[in-house]
Amino acid sequence: MNAHKGLVLIVEDDANIAALQRLYLERDGYRTEIAEDGTAGFAAVARSAPVAVVLDVGLPGMDGVTFCRRLRERGDWTPVLLVTARGDEADRILGLELGADDYLTKPFSPGELVARVNAVLRRGPRPAPGPAPAVHALGRLRVDRGRHTVHVDGLPVEFTALELALLAHLLDHRGQVFSRAQLLDRVWGDSAHRDQRVVDVYVSQIRAKLGTASPIRTVRGVGYGASAEAAGA
Ligand code: CA
Repeated sequence: MNAHKGLVLIVEDDANIAALQRLYLERDGYRTEIAEDGTAGFAAVARSAPVAVVLDVGLPGMDGVTFCRRLRERGDWTPVLLVTARGDEADRILGLELGADDYLTKPFSPGELVARVNAVLRRGPRPAPGPAPAVHALGRLRVDRGRHTVHVDGLPVEFTALELALLAHLLDHRGQVFSRAQLLDRVWGDSAHRDQRVVDVYVSQIRAKLGTASPIRTVRGVGYGASAEAAGA
């Protein structure tokens, strides 16, 4: 057994489950810290700099999916193992899209938990995203922000400045999902005085222009994102 494999932060509101996770992980050589709600856990990541976070999805304060998204948004790529209740398929998928590294379904065995934590640590933190590229080439789609051009299959498609800014923002953060309010803040510059449906209108316009080459995905109840893989190949 390794004497010290680093600190794992357990964010779990069920004290029994948290105690079990602590037991399994410490037996394998990790140190552990437990946070009982999402807000406390989020603060603990910055304070304690754990090597990994074992994160329950259903949490008071801040749910695990929001936790994960906010962590990645602030550029923190600490490995996250998301723990979901059986049947929470949507949470699991959403969590992975928002930057979780792996997931574990309750109930789990001690061996499973430890193996997953070891695995996310072996993979290491994901590289922080670099500066946004000026050109996105994704399957049949090519978006050149500098020249303000969009091409599908080599043919130019007319885009307004806002349509291009929205598409480029989603492509800059491929695989992430944004709420309408976030997109209004980041693309339009404010969300306070705008009808969120304007985002839906712009997404429709972009989809109409790009057809099957559109990389934009709708995540029900959350918002929009760009697929990591090329669309309409
Ligand atoms: Ca819970």
